[in-house]
Amino acid sequence: MKYVMALDQGTTSSRAILFDHGGNVVGVDQYEFEQHFPKPGWVEHDPREIWDSQLRAARGAIAKAGAAPSEIAALGITNQRETALVWDRKTGEPIYPAIVWQSRQTAPICDELRSRGLDDEVKTRTGLVIDAYFSATKIRFILDAVAGAQERAERGELAFGTVDTWLIYKLSHGRVHATEYSNASRTMLFNIETLDWDDTLLAALNIPRALLPEVRDSSGIFGNSAAAELGAEIPIGGAAGDQQAALFGQGCSQPGRAKNTYGTGCFLLMNTGTKLPRSKTGLLSTIAWGIGGRVEYALEGSIFVAGAAIQWLRDGLGLISSADETEAAARSVDDTGGVYLVPAFVGLGAPYWDERARGTLVGLTRGTTREHLIRATLEAIAYQTRDVAECVATDSGIAAESLRVDGGACRNDFLMQFQADILGVPVRRPDMLEVTALGSAALAGLAVGFWQDAAELEQAVGKGRVFEPSMGVDQRDSLYAGWKRAVERSRGWIED
Ligand code: ADP
Repeated sequence: MKYVMALDQGTTSSRAILFDHGGNVVGVDQYEFEQHFPKPGWVEHDPREIWDSQLRAARGAIAKAGAAPSEIAALGITNQRETALVWDRKTGEPIYPAIVWQSRQTAPICDELRSRGLDDEVKTRTGLVIDAYFSATKIRFILDAVAGAQERAERGELAFGTVDTWLIYKLSHGRVHATEYSNASRTMLFNIETLDWDDTLLAALNIPRALLPEVRDSSGIFGNSAAAELGAEIPIGGAAGDQQAALFGQGCSQPGRAKNTYGTGCFLLMNTGTKLPRSKTGLLSTIAWGIGGRVEYALEGSIFVAGAAIQWLRDGLGLISSADETEAAARSVDDTGGVYLVPAFVGLGAPYWDERARGTLVGLTRGTTREHLIRATLEAIAYQTRDVAECVATDSGIAAESLRVDGGACRNDFLMQFQADILGVPVRRPDMLEVTALGSAALAGLAVGFWQDAAELEQAVGKGRVFEPSMGVDQRDSLYAGWKRAVERSRGWIED
């Protein structure tokens, strides 16, 4: 056996990567798929397109590596989290589009849950806050939207899954209906203390248990992929949500270690070990993974818009033609000239949880230029990260001595330097940025004995580059104070 394959099913594209024994990338393939925006604030995917693009990427990565399918020891899945799918158990046909994590279409269901006083129940049981972000209200929405779906769900004819579950079901030709702890912990239906679906919350949302997948370890064999799909029966050896997989891939398997991923959004997670953390600051408590029957937890700061604000500069404003241009543009000015952008385009996530906040640009003068605006957009990513990093320090009682980073936007050296300056701690960027895929490959490879210990992969990630803070404390504090004032201006903007 020469390889382990990661299937990395993201929000905008499906990727597959083959890793060799040294953790080196030997084949990659990737396909974008369509984003559907049926109404303002709604985001949906076609489940068939998710599967088709993922299958094509897997076949493509095998071909590009020049590998034989029989040489693949296992495959690991990592996926966009929270996105909810419901399909017919017998035919495998989805009954509704996949409702994506970013979608706000279930905000009214959340309002109703809040008005019933369920905030504390949800927080204690699931570690989450009531928000349209999580899967539970998306399931309720689908069961209401499709005639007869509630009854069919009660009769056990339908299956719910997050994207990992959908891919496992498709790969195994419908033989396996299962998820694992990290994805289950994002549904707002899973009790992260008792490690079971929560009957109180199922009842509150009238979601039948018969709809739900079995919850298993993140590292362990779920079943084999059907030979017809990938050319051989390959064990599905592990799965984890994208952020948890990145935490594992970054080598944060010890309590106290933290990473931040700069993608569409930004997600800062700190491993808290077997201790279930309780946040007082607006972070989420979540399951990092379950391995060998042992569950470990993490504190998470979820920022909805980070790299997506750069996409907005490109596609919405036409200020840039590619994300890479932002670095030189930001460096061409000394500062933002007092401009702050709060990219609350879909409200604010951690630690504010304000569904009514909206994007806000403040401090404009006649001297404001395109470059100031671009720089303010990059800086906003770093300020949002400081917001959640402070909460992680408060909740955990651990002052991080450095921050490990990954994700598409961490290639931007200006952003990484500004991040180190605003945090006042070094930022560590690995040489190999495919840590999310590597994390899921590691979970799978460990399950089949391809690797014995996650530490074997540390070399593959590399020492990387360290950005040391160089800004004075006064300047750091005064810039950050300005950000806090700007955030206040963005809050509660949408009226009922
Ligand atoms: P995801 O997995 O969420 O789709 P990726 O990790 O692939 O995201 O990162 C893509 C995001 O990073 C995009 O939102 C893009 O705008 C942003 N991005 C890519 N390159 C840069 C760059 N050089 N500077 C700033 N942002 C960037």
